[in-house]
Amino acid sequence: METVRVEVYKEYENGTLGLGVRVVDDEATVADLLEVWEPLSDDPGVRKRYASGTGSCRGCVNNCCNSAFVIPDLIAFKAVCRETGTTAGECLDRWFDPESREAGILRWRYGPCVFLKDRLCSIYRQRSLICRFYLCTNMLGETEQMIYSVVTAGISALYVRLEERGLLNPVDRGLTGFEQALRDLVKEYRDHPGTMEFLKADGYHEVMLKAFP
Ligand code: SF4
Ligand code: SF4
Repeated sequence: METVRVEVYKEYENGTLGLGVRVVDDEATVADLLEVWEPLSDDPGVRKRYASGTGSCRGCVNNCCNSAFVIPDLIAFKAVCRETGTTAGECLDRWFDPESREAGILRWRYGPCVFLKDRLCSIYRQRSLICRFYLCTNMLGETEQMIYSVVTAGISALYVRLEERGLLNPVDRGLTGFEQALRDLVKEYRDHPGTMEFLKADGYHEVMLKAFP
């Protein structure tokens, strides 16, 4: 019998029904979390604020990929490089927004996302944690915090790896408050145990959730 490592549940918090996950096995990984989380995008039982039609992300005309702000995590970045046959440097030049890069923000080209083709994600199997976790629904506080930490650690790991390789070269220009806050956040996570997990992992199945208590 397959071991259940992460469970999904719903609960009221401050009078609002929210979606939560509970880690029930100390050996659970980010892959276990994704396994229960990703199907929720097509679950009409999970109320989505901007969904059109069936309540599923499939066929949603408000497709959030049109306006998504996506900074990939290290594992997604490596997967996209592998899939597209690009080096890290080529990947940065080809797929990342140049202005954001100048500010030290590693954001996929956007408006709509550069990987959105015919309203579908062309790198679906390699998409980043931000894309995998995003749902326009209410989340319980602790779950939101855990997902936020996992995503930020994965992003911070990408920054650490690219910096080691001399591939992060922001120019010396004034930053907006938002840009500065993002950079500070990524910096703050550099020594997070979760960031260490991402740095030594080849896939989400190697990133332990116990690094995100
Ligand atoms: S998460 Fe995105 S695709 Fe899914 S229902 Fe919300 S807006 Fe639509
Ligand atoms: S990478 Fe794919 S899932 Fe993520 S925003 Fe772009 S098109 Fe959407």
